[in-house]
Amino acid sequence: MEPLDSGDTIVAVATAPGKGALAIVRISGADSNAFLQRRCVRVLDWRQHSRRQVLTELRDQDGRVVDQVIVSFFASPRSYTGEDMAEICCHGSPWIQRRILEVAIEDGLRLAKPGEFTQRGFLSGKLDLLQAEAVHDLIGSETAWQAKVAREQLEGGLSRFLQPLKSQLVGIVSEMETALEFVEDDVTPAGREQLLQRLEEVDRGLGGLESSFRLGRLVQEGLRVVLAGPPNAGKSSIFNALMQEERAIVSDLPGTTRDFLRERVMIAQVPVELVDTAGLREAEDRIEGMGVERALEAMAEGDLILFIVDGSEPFGREASSAWKLVKGRRPILVVNKVDLAIRFEATKLLLESCADRVDVSAAKAWNLEGLREVIGNAAWGAGEEREGAILTSIRHKEEVSTSREALARAAGALREGVSEEYVLYDLRKALEGLGRLSGEVGVEEILGRIFSTFCIGK
Ligand code: GDP
Repeated sequence: MEPLDSGDTIVAVATAPGKGALAIVRISGADSNAFLQRRCVRVLDWRQHSRRQVLTELRDQDGRVVDQVIVSFFASPRSYTGEDMAEICCHGSPWIQRRILEVAIEDGLRLAKPGEFTQRGFLSGKLDLLQAEAVHDLIGSETAWQAKVAREQLEGGLSRFLQPLKSQLVGIVSEMETALEFVEDDVTPAGREQLLQRLEEVDRGLGGLESSFRLGRLVQEGLRVVLAGPPNAGKSSIFNALMQEERAIVSDLPGTTRDFLRERVMIAQVPVELVDTAGLREAEDRIEGMGVERALEAMAEGDLILFIVDGSEPFGREASSAWKLVKGRRPILVVNKVDLAIRFEATKLLLESCADRVDVSAAKAWNLEGLREVIGNAAWGAGEEREGAILTSIRHKEEVSTSREALARAAGALREGVSEEYVLYDLRKALEGLGRLSGEVGVEEILGRIFSTFCIGK
């Protein structure tokens, strides 16, 4: 990482480049106050006006007015960076923005590097690394869900979840160290058993977090929902109804959807990719056979399977061969065509193998909101319990996995009665992984990588 010259006072335009009604120029560092005193009229000490908005004129070195601006000053340490900082809200002309930067640079301020404001916030302890990364995710968020998860992480949700696990581990390490130092003999078998239990507890917590990465990936990439079921059950009709437009070709002849269609929609605030498969029938002809194979591929990639049946038909041979392909995936049973006389009856076994059941009529658009809700629940469910503690980045996932591997080695060594030094070595490794996660240890090598992906002014 490039060495940070934290003595500098930095400046950057924080709003998107180009022309806008307004723009914001951010400054941070010890000279913020002096710079604004020199260049703005009326205010003598900006620290006296912390967290207030002041209408003033910003002038260049020749005393010419650059713009009428509103300055919000944040006195250290109560600011985003922890330093004295200010946000100068000016008119959004590119010339004015550039001129303010020039005036600042002429006064000895330096252009900020990408992510430098957030990095300073991190270095002065205003945010931990997880929160700093959340700033990046929040700015990049494109759906309500992405924004929610990033906001929770920014508010410290993930850090709070990790804290008790870390303290547990620190407790175990220091107890073992004390035992090694002061007691002549080793930890007793009973003591070892007790340590093992505590390690398992930590590991359970981390395991939950590790598996939340599945959900985290969904937040970033969306939920892939595959529509499966026997021919003519109404897959394409449901696909269309959810898309609210006619995209798939609906036909009365069984098995005419030769390939599958994919479309992105928002369902219950979740980005969803809908995949409409061909009839999952054991095909008689070759083209149809390819459809089945590809449908199986689509299902393998699917996060959620909707098993769609025709409610006006008894559960027949085609339905049961389609069922064989999906039953291991805990699909959602969707009984379609409930506008007609119902002749479908779900067996107990079928219901037990499904995660949920919804009755709809694609033709009459009945209970599509019920279907949307069930899809939404499938996506949200696991996330709600964990309240923001969701791993969304591969870096986080890897650190948690590394820590768990070290924990498993430590537990193995404890069980086998290996000397405490070996156990401690792995426990420290596990702690290090968690420390890197929140940025407490070994951050030098990752800081540059993380903050360089930020844009300037962040
Ligand atoms: P797919 O082969 O599973 O994709 O089924 P389609 O969506 O092509 O539908 C097959 C036939 O069932 C078409 O004639 C649709 O108009 C009809 N259909 C679909 N949904 C409903 C429904 O809710 N009620 C009724 N009465 N007919 C439906």
